[in-house]
Amino acid sequence: MIPFLKSVARAYASRYSDLSDFCFLFPNKRSGTFFMKYLKEERGGRAFLSPRVLSVSDFVSEVSGKVAASRLDLLFLLYHTYRDYLGLGESDDAEGVDFDSFRMWGETVLADFNEVDLYLADADEIFKNVKDYREIASNFLTEEQKEVMAEYFGRTEYSDPNEFWKDFDAPDDELSDLRRKFLHLWRIMAPLYHGLHERLDSLGLSTTGGLYRSALRVVREKGRDILPYRKVTVVGFNALSTAERAIFSELRDMEPYPGEDTFADFFWDATGPVLSGTGNSASKFVRSNIRSFPCPEWALHILRQSDTPDMPSEIKVVASPSNSAQVKIAGTLLSELRGQLTQEEFNDARVAVVLPDENLLLPMLYSLPAGMGDVNLTMGYPLRLTSVVPFVSLLRRLHFNMRETPAGKAFYHKDLRLFLAHPYPHALLGSDVIEKINGYLDRYHKAVISLNELAAISEKAESLLSSLDRIATPLDAIDRLDEILSDVKNSLTCEESGLVKTRLEISHIEIYRDALRRMRELLREYNTDMKAATALRLADRLLAGEKVGFEGEPLVGLQVMGMLETRSIDFDHIFILSANERILPMRARTRSFIPDTLRRAFGMPPSNYAESIFAYYFYRMISRARGVTMIYDARSGGGMRSGDVSRYLLQLRYLFAKDRLVEEDWKFVLTGKTPHEASVDKTPEILERLKAFVHDPAAGNQDRSLNFSASSLNSYRECQVKFFYQSVMGINTDPEPSEFIDSISAGNILHDVMLQLYLPPEKRGKLLPRPVVVTKDAVSRILEDHESLKRIMTRTVNRVHFNLEDDQLDRPLEGGAEIVGRQLARQAVNILRHDLELAPFNILGCEISERLHIALPSGRKVNFRFAIDRLDEIDTQGGRQLRIVDYKTGRIKLKAADMEEVLKGNYAGEQIFQLFTYAWLLGKRGGVEGASDVRLEIYDVNKIHTGEVRLPVIGDNEVKDFAAYADDFSAGMESLLDGIFDNPRFEAADDESDCGMCRLRTLCRR
Ligand code: SF4
Repeated sequence: MIPFLKSVARAYASRYSDLSDFCFLFPNKRSGTFFMKYLKEERGGRAFLSPRVLSVSDFVSEVSGKVAASRLDLLFLLYHTYRDYLGLGESDDAEGVDFDSFRMWGETVLADFNEVDLYLADADEIFKNVKDYREIASNFLTEEQKEVMAEYFGRTEYSDPNEFWKDFDAPDDELSDLRRKFLHLWRIMAPLYHGLHERLDSLGLSTTGGLYRSALRVVREKGRDILPYRKVTVVGFNALSTAERAIFSELRDMEPYPGEDTFADFFWDATGPVLSGTGNSASKFVRSNIRSFPCPEWALHILRQSDTPDMPSEIKVVASPSNSAQVKIAGTLLSELRGQLTQEEFNDARVAVVLPDENLLLPMLYSLPAGMGDVNLTMGYPLRLTSVVPFVSLLRRLHFNMRETPAGKAFYHKDLRLFLAHPYPHALLGSDVIEKINGYLDRYHKAVISLNELAAISEKAESLLSSLDRIATPLDAIDRLDEILSDVKNSLTCEESGLVKTRLEISHIEIYRDALRRMRELLREYNTDMKAATALRLADRLLAGEKVGFEGEPLVGLQVMGMLETRSIDFDHIFILSANERILPMRARTRSFIPDTLRRAFGMPPSNYAESIFAYYFYRMISRARGVTMIYDARSGGGMRSGDVSRYLLQLRYLFAKDRLVEEDWKFVLTGKTPHEASVDKTPEILERLKAFVHDPAAGNQDRSLNFSASSLNSYRECQVKFFYQSVMGINTDPEPSEFIDSISAGNILHDVMLQLYLPPEKRGKLLPRPVVVTKDAVSRILEDHESLKRIMTRTVNRVHFNLEDDQLDRPLEGGAEIVGRQLARQAVNILRHDLELAPFNILGCEISERLHIALPSGRKVNFRFAIDRLDEIDTQGGRQLRIVDYKTGRIKLKAADMEEVLKGNYAGEQIFQLFTYAWLLGKRGGVEGASDVRLEIYDVNKIHTGEVRLPVIGDNEVKDFAAYADDFSAGMESLLDGIFDNPRFEAADDESDCGMCRLRTLCRR
C-alpha cells in the first residue's frame, strides 16, 4: 500500500513524460510539497521540468489577479469604511466609534463577509432589513451565536443568553438599546460590505472569500484561455465551498486540449472502512464530490494501489494523567519508535506528531528526546501563546498604572514585580539587577517605586522604564515598544545558546515586530486618531490574534503538524495528542452575526459545520498508517482540556476497530508505583547539587554549602518536590512582601521583642555557658514598664518590617502598623504573664542559631542550621527540666497517630516533627546537661492567656520529655536524610489536596 499522493504522482509519471504545462491544485501547500517529493521518486530521481503545484488559495489569487489583504489591513480598511458611512471626517470623534471598540465586532463582521463571498451569497439579500427576519429575535440562533451577540452588544452579564433576546423582542416603540444597536449593525452590513470591497478593489486587494468569487467571475468570463495550463488536476479536497465547487465545475466543463480526455482531472481520497462506506458524516462530502467530479478512468488501477480496506493494524490509546504529561508520554514513545526504525525510515518524513491543541506545540518541542534528528514544523501558532504577547501586556500595564508621586513618576510594586518575573527583563537587565530591585521592594516594603529610586539601583532599569514616561503619541508608543523588543532580541541573540527555545523566541519577537511595523504604517496611512495608551492596548490585544505560520520545507525527519496540515498526507506512524472531546474535533465557536436559518437559506455552512468535516480529516489521516497512537488527558472535570475522550476514539473502540485497540494507562505502566508527573528525577546535575549539603572540606565545596534545617526537612516530609525547589534550587516561596505587616513579619517581631525583654544584647542568639536567672520580680518589672515595652515594640517594627535604622527607629507607628504593634504588645504581655507563673526559671538562650555537622550511619556528615526560639529550665512535677519553647502565632498542629506520621507527610504532625528535630539536634550538639529528656512546648500566643500548655501528643500520650521517642525519631531522621541523597527521585506529595495552597504549583505542574 502506498500513500495517496504517491499513487497520484505514479499515475501521472506513468502516463506523461512531460508535465511542465500541468497545474496541480492541493488544499494546502504542504500536500503539494509531499506530492513533488513522490513525483521525483516516481521519476527515479531523473531531472524533469516540474509541473506547477499550487494551493487552491494561491490558484484563486493568481486567476483573480488580486492579493488577499492581511487581517490588520482588513480591520483598518473596514474601520475607515465604517467611519465614511457614518460621515465622520478624519478628526471627528463619535461615541463608540474609536478603533478599539470597533475592533471588538469588526473581526466578526469580516469573518461574515468572507463567508458571504466563499459561499457566493448575495450580500444585499442576506443583509436585508431585519424586519423581514423577525424570527432572528428568538428561535433560530444557536446558543453560541446568542453568546456572541450578547458579548458584542455590550451586555455580557446574561446568565441565560435568551435574556438577551427578550431585550431584543421588545415592541418597536420600546426598542431596547441592545436591539437598536443590533438593528443598526444589521442595516449597515450591506453598505459596509460594498464599501469595503470598493476600497479593496482600488488597492488590488481582496478578502480571501473575495478571491474565490473574483476567480470564478474570471474563469466564467474568459474560460480556458485565462489558464496557462494544458491540464489542471485537483487533488485531495473534501468539503467544498460554493465558490470552490463552482470553480471546479467550470474547470471540469472546459474543452480538453487535443489528445486529452479532459481539461481537469479530479482525485479524491476515500479509502479505509469508514470513508469508503456510506451513511456516515465523515464520507458525506467526499462521496458527493466523487459523483460530481469522477476520478479519471485511466488512473483508477494505480489509485487502487493506495487503497486500504482495513483499519491500521496497531492502534494504541494512552491515558495521560494530565494535559502536560501528554508531551512527555509522546516523547518517550517516540524515543522507543526511533529505536525500532532504521535511520532511513525515520528520516523519510514517515513519522508525524499531530497536535490538535496548538497550546501543546512548544511543550512538545521541548519534550522531544535527544537524538531525534531533523524536526519539521508545519502549523499555525497564535502569537498569544508566545512569550512576547504577555511581555507587551505587562509593559502596557506598567505604563497604564504609572502614577505621579512627590518623588516623581513611580510604578506600583505589584505591576513591577510581575513585569520583572517575565523572562525578557532577565535577558535585558540581568537577573542580579532584578534581584536587587525585588530586594529593595521587599526590604522597604515599598508600595510604589519611583524612577529615581530605580536609577539608584540600576541605570539600565531606569532607562528601560523611563521611556514609558516619554510616550506621548500612538506612534511613540509603537516605536518605543519596537525598540524594547529589538533590545530583547539582541539580548537573547547574545545568549550563548543554540537552543530551539531561544531560536523560537527570537522568531516570535521578529514576527511580532513585523506586525507592529504594519500597524504603525496603517495608523499613518489611514491617519487613525487614537491616544498613545490606546495604541499600546491595540498592540497588546490586536497583535495577540496574529499567527506564527510555521511551514517547514525539507521533507526529512519527524513531522510536527496541526490537524489541518495533515490533509492529503499519509504517514507510517502517527502520534495524535489531545484526543479529547472539544479538541478532537475542535469545538467550533461560531463568531458570526448571521443566524443559522439565514446561513442555511443562503447555502452557507451552519455553525456545527467545522465539526462535521473534521471526521473526514481524522479517518483519512489514520487510514494508511501502520501504527497510530492516540494520547488523551484522562483527568475528569479539570476544565476544557481534560475529561471526555474524543468521539473518534469512542467510535474506534466500539465501532470501527473493536478488539484492536491496545489501551494503556500511564499511571500504572511506568513502575509498580505511580510516579506523579510532578516528581523530579535526581539527575547527575541534581546529585551534584545535593553534595552542597555534605560537610566535606576535602571536596573544597564549603563556600557553596547548603544547610538542612527543621523547617526545610518539614517541607521534605510533606512534599519532597517542594523541598527540592525551595532548598536545593533556592526558589523563594515566601508570600510576596507587602506594605502591610503579614503573619510572618508579625511572628518575627514578636520573637525579637521577647528576646530583647529577657536578654541583654551580648547574650542574644547563642547558647549561654551560664544561664540567666529570671525571677518573679524581674518579670513583674518588665510587665509594669509599659513605656519600655511600647518603645521596644515601635523600634522593632521599624527595624524588622520597615528596615529603618538608628535615629529613625523611634518613628511613631501609624495606621495598620500601629494596630498590629498594639496587638503584638498584648501578646508579649500575655507571654510574660504566663512566664510570671513559672518564675523563677533559667534561660539558656533565646533565638539560638548555630551550624552543626551531623554524622549519619551512612558515613555522610551533613550540614545543619540549628535554630530554636528559647531554651530554658523550669520546675515541673518531675523536678527541674530543660525545655525548648517555640512561639507560634498560627494554627497549632501537635497531634500525630504514631512516629510514622511524625516522619512522613501529613500536616497534622508538622510541629511535632519540628520540635523533635530541635531536641534531636540539641542532643547531637552535646554539651547541654539534661538535653536527653528535654521538654518540648509550644507557646500558642493567641491562647496563652488561658494558661493552656501545648505539649505534643502521639497516639493517646502527651509527650512530657523527648527521651522516650529519641531512638525511634533518630533512626527515622537518619534514614530520611540518607534518602535525600540515595532515593532515585524527589516524590510529589501523595495527597493532591495538599497542593491547593502551594506556591510552587505552577512550577511543578500539579
Ligand atoms: S504543588 Fe504539590 S506536588 Fe507540587 S511542590 Fe507543591 S505540594 Fe509538592
